[in-house]
Amino acid sequence: LRDQTQVLSSILDSLEDGVVVADANEQLVLVNRAAERIMGVALQSLPATERSAHYGLFLPDQVTPFPHDELPLRRAVCGESTNDVGVFIRNPTTPTGAWLTLSGRPLTYADGSPRGGLVVIRDVTAQRAAEHALRESEERYALAAKGANDGLWDWDIARGCIFFSERWMEMLGIDPSTITASPDEWFGRVHSDDVQKLREDIAAHLNLQTPHFENESRMLHQDGTYRWVLSRGFAVRDATGRATRMAGSHSDVTERKLYDALTGLPNKALLMDRLEWLAARAARQTTAGFALLLFGLDRFKMVNESLGHGVGDQLLVAVSQRLGRLIRPADTFARIGADEFAVLLEECPGVHEATRFADQLQAQLVQPFHVGGETVFSSASIGIALGGGGTVSRPQEIWRKADTAKNRAKAKGRGRHELFDSAMHKRAYQQLQLETDLRQAIERGEFRLHYQPIITLATGQLAGFEALVRWYCTAKGNVIAPGEFIPLAEETGLIVGIGDFVLREACRQLAEWRGQHGGQLDLFMAVNLSARQFGQPDLKSQIEDTVIASSLEPRSIKLEITESVIMEDALAATHTLEQLKALGLQLCIDDFGTGYSSMKYLRDLPLDSLKVDRSFVAKMTEDAANHEIVSTIVRLAHNLGLDVIAEGVESIGMANALQQLGCEYVQGFHYARPMEAEAAQRFISSHPPTTSGSKNQSA
Ligand code: C2E
Ligand code: CA
Ligand code: CA
Repeated sequence: LRDQTQVLSSILDSLEDGVVVADANEQLVLVNRAAERIMGVALQSLPATERSAHYGLFLPDQVTPFPHDELPLRRAVCGESTNDVGVFIRNPTTPTGAWLTLSGRPLTYADGSPRGGLVVIRDVTAQRAAEHALRESEERYALAAKGANDGLWDWDIARGCIFFSERWMEMLGIDPSTITASPDEWFGRVHSDDVQKLREDIAAHLNLQTPHFENESRMLHQDGTYRWVLSRGFAVRDATGRATRMAGSHSDVTERKLYDALTGLPNKALLMDRLEWLAARAARQTTAGFALLLFGLDRFKMVNESLGHGVGDQLLVAVSQRLGRLIRPADTFARIGADEFAVLLEECPGVHEATRFADQLQAQLVQPFHVGGETVFSSASIGIALGGGGTVSRPQEIWRKADTAKNRAKAKGRGRHELFDSAMHKRAYQQLQLETDLRQAIERGEFRLHYQPIITLATGQLAGFEALVRWYCTAKGNVIAPGEFIPLAEETGLIVGIGDFVLREACRQLAEWRGQHGGQLDLFMAVNLSARQFGQPDLKSQIEDTVIASSLEPRSIKLEITESVIMEDALAATHTLEQLKALGLQLCIDDFGTGYSSMKYLRDLPLDSLKVDRSFVAKMTEDAANHEIVSTIVRLAHNLGLDVIAEGVESIGMANALQQLGCEYVQGFHYARPMEAEAAQRFISSHPPTTSGSKNQSA
C-alpha cells in the first residue's frame, strides 16, 4: 500500500494541474507539486499537522466577492461537485496574481459515506491574457479601421460568401442595394495585371506561409478609374489549422502610390499616367504639342554625402517648392527618382517655349539654397522631348527621348539643357542596333582572338602574347575593333560573357601551342580584364575554373587591369588582386601613367609588372618630357620589384631608348602587329622562345 501511495503521489506530482485533497474534517491530506507552484506555498516539506493551517489557502479566500462556503474544496468536502469555478488570486510568486479555475469532487468510501473532497486547480492566466489581448486588439482594430476610414470585409471561406462594410462600398462608389455577397465583388474589380498577385498573396496566408495577408492592387471605382487599394487581413482557423474565415480591411492608398512622400509632388506613376493621357489625346485630335523635361540635380550626390541625408532631403524640398512656382496648374511637376525631376508642359507649341522654360528652371536653381545652416548651389542637366502637335508618339518613346537628351546634357557639362533631335535619334538608334548585334554576336560565336607578341628586349626572344579580341560581325560584314564595342559591352554588362570567352580561348590556345612543343614552351599569355569584369563578385572562382580546365600553370596567365580601374577603389582592388594572386596568376597594371596612382597602394598591391601606356612610349624619342616619364616609371617599377612592359613600340629608336632605361619587355608594331592564331603559331616557330629547360635564369 505504501508503494502504491508513492506511485500515486509521483503521478500526481507530474501533472500540470494542481490537485488538493482534504479529508472529511477539512484537514489537508495531499497537495501535489503543481498546486504548490500555482498557490505559491511549499506544503510537502511541512509536517502533516502544520499543513492544515494552510487549508484556507486552497479555498482562495483572497477572492473577495466569493462567499467562503461556496469555495470548491469546501463544497467538495460537503459532498458536492463543482465545475470550473473561475477565481483570481494574488500569491507571492506572481506579483500580478493568477487566474485559476477550480473544480471540486467529493470523495466517498466504498459504502458511499463521505470521506472528504478533492479540487483540481488549473492556472489559466496565460489563456485569459491571450483572450483578453485578442478582444482588445479586435476592438482596437475595429476602432482604428473606422478612424482610418478603411473599408472592412469578412469572408466566410467555408460558405463562400463575403460581407463588405458600408465604407467599403463607398470607397469604390458602389450602390449598397446592388451588392451581392460574392467574393467576385472584390476580385472582379481588381485590375487584370494585379489579380494574379492578389490570389497568390491570399493563398500564401491561407497556407500559413505568411503571418498575415497584405496586398496592394488597383481596383475599379464605379466612376471608371482605378484606385490603389491596400488590403490587409487575417485568417481564422479551425482546430486543424484550416482557414475557415478571413477578415480584414481595404484602404485607399492612391495618394501614397501617386505622390512622393518627401516633397508631396506627383511621382513617376502619376506622371506616366498624365503622359499617357496626353499622348492618347494627341493621337485623337490635333492639339498644340506638349513637352516633357527630365532633369537631375547636378552634384546632389555630393551634397548628400558631405552634408548628410537630412540636408539632402531639405534641398529636395526646397527645390520642389521653388520650382513649383513656375508650374502652371495644367502642367505636372513630378519627382521621379532620388534627385530626378520631371515637368510635363501640357501646352507647349514648340521648341522655343520648351527651351525658354528650361532656362527659367535653370535660373531658379542657380540662386543659392539655404538648407541645414549651409548654402548650397545647384544646377540641373535638362533633357527635353516634344510630343503631340501632329506627331504620333508613344509615351515610352517620348520618355526615352527626353532621357537620351538629358544624358547628352549631362555629358556636355553641368547646368545645360539639350533638346532631343534627329542626330541624337540616329546616334541612339545606332547604339541600340549595335547592342542588338552585340547580344547576337555572343550567341553566334562571332568573337575571335588576335595575338600580339611580347618580346624580351635584352635577347629579342619571344616572351609571350597579349590576347586582343576582335568581332567578326556577320551583320556588318567586317571586323570591328574592340575600341568600338568594348565600352558598350561594359555599359550593358555583355562584357562579362565576352571576357569569359576571351580568357577561356586564350588559355585553350596557349595550352594547344604548348602541346605542340611537347609541353616545353615557356610563354605567357596576357589577358585584359575590364572594369566590370574586375568588379564581378565571383571573379576569382570563375578564373580559377577556367585556368584549371585548361591545365595550364597559373603562372603563364598574366592579367592586365588598367590603372584607373584599380585606383578607382584601391582598397577593394587590393583585396581582389590578392585573391587572384593567391591563384598563382601574374598581375600587370595596364595603361600605366594615364591614371593617378597612389604610391601607398601601389607598394602594397601584389603585382608582377607595369605596362607603360602607349602614349608616353610613342613620343619618348621626340619629346624629352615623355622620355623622362618613361624613365621614371621604369625606375619606380624596379624599386617596387616589378618588371616593365612598354607597349606601342613602333621603331628601332624607341626600342633602343627603352633598352637604355632597362625596360624588360616590349610590344608594338615594330616587332609585330596583333595576328590571327595561325600566324601567331608561325611566329612562334620563327622566333623560338626559351624552352622551360633552357630558361635564362637571370632574365
Ligand atoms: P590595350 O590593352 O592597351 O591593348 C593594346 C592596344 O594597342 C591594342 O589595340 C593593340 O592593337 C594596340 N597596339 C599594339 N601595338 C601598337 C603599336 O605599336 N602602335 C599602336 N598605335 N597601337 C598598338 P586594340 O587591339 O585595338 O585594343 C584596344 C583596347 O581594347 C585594348 O587596349 C584593351 O583595352 C581593349 N581590349 C582588347 N581586347 C580586349 C579583351 O579581350 N578584353 C578587354 N576587357 N579589353 C580588350
Ligand atoms: Ca592590355
Ligand atoms: Ca595598354
